[in-house]
Amino acid sequence: MGRDVLRIEDLVVHYETMAGPVKAVNHVSFSIGEGEIFGLAGESGCGKTTIALSIMKLLPYNGKILSGRILLGDVDVVLLTEEEMMEVRWKKVSMVFQGAMNALNPVLRVGDQIAEVLVEKEGWSKERALERAKELFSLVGIDPSRVYDYPHEFSGGMRQRAIIAMALVLNPQLVIADEPVTALDVVVQSKILDLLKRLRDELGISVMMITHDLSVIAETSDRVGIMYAGRLVEHARAEDLFGEPAHPYTKALINAFPSIVGERKRFEAIRGDPPNLLNPPPGCPFHPRCPYAMDVCREKVPKLVKVGEEHEAACFLIGGA
Ligand code: SF4
Repeated sequence: MGRDVLRIEDLVVHYETMAGPVKAVNHVSFSIGEGEIFGLAGESGCGKTTIALSIMKLLPYNGKILSGRILLGDVDVVLLTEEEMMEVRWKKVSMVFQGAMNALNPVLRVGDQIAEVLVEKEGWSKERALERAKELFSLVGIDPSRVYDYPHEFSGGMRQRAIIAMALVLNPQLVIADEPVTALDVVVQSKILDLLKRLRDELGISVMMITHDLSVIAETSDRVGIMYAGRLVEHARAEDLFGEPAHPYTKALINAFPSIVGERKRFEAIRGDPPNLLNPPPGCPFHPRCPYAMDVCREKVPKLVKVGEEHEAACFLIGGA
């Protein structure tokens, strides 16, 4: 991979609530290289989307970045004002939001909704902007003549392709895709994932793929980060993570997904529930659910330690006590 397009360093994000701070992201660091697809996985509520919204500086009013850096190239977006962020958002980094395919305005033609971005942000004429919308439709596999259709005339897969086209309209270097295929049937899912890989290959963009579904990561990602309770507990190249997972949570996640290859085995749900981040357990946050928990796990937070080349995990079974 080329130079880093995104580097997150020691990021801490909390949500202020009446009951106290929800510790959504705790000292998370990782990077994404040029032309790389980086998968960020974990159960719902583990902090994946909060990281994405922090990169976009679109956290809700009670979300606060307490410390850390988010470098897009050389620019630390944490330090940018909202006005400065307008030059970064959609131009350097864009996002396909969770459930966004249902967010198209039903009373506007799909092409007009894409063209509007260029008219409003770049001052293009409506005609030129619509030509660009047609180009983008071709790129994502929709007949360009469909720019004149309304959202209800599109299938779910076409709406998701149109949303991806919208994310590409200002040529960003990084696209964050938050659960981009969750609401789609498996055949359409596969086509959308193939599209994202093709766009990476043809445009050289980087993709941050956020999902709870490890099969999506296995199908698309070059490298993977596994989040648990607001912490990055393991990261590795995809083949290493699936071939030799090191963290008990990663192993449990992989065992919880059925496989159509290899020997037949019973897949197991992860016992217990993810912790409440208002009041996370002391020590390793996974210890109440971990079959290997030791005394030290209840007292100290394990640090990421090297497991192999480009492979780190945070577990006392590996080291770092
Ligand atoms: Fe389990 Fe302890 Fe490792 Fe946490 S540090 S995953 S509780 S063995």
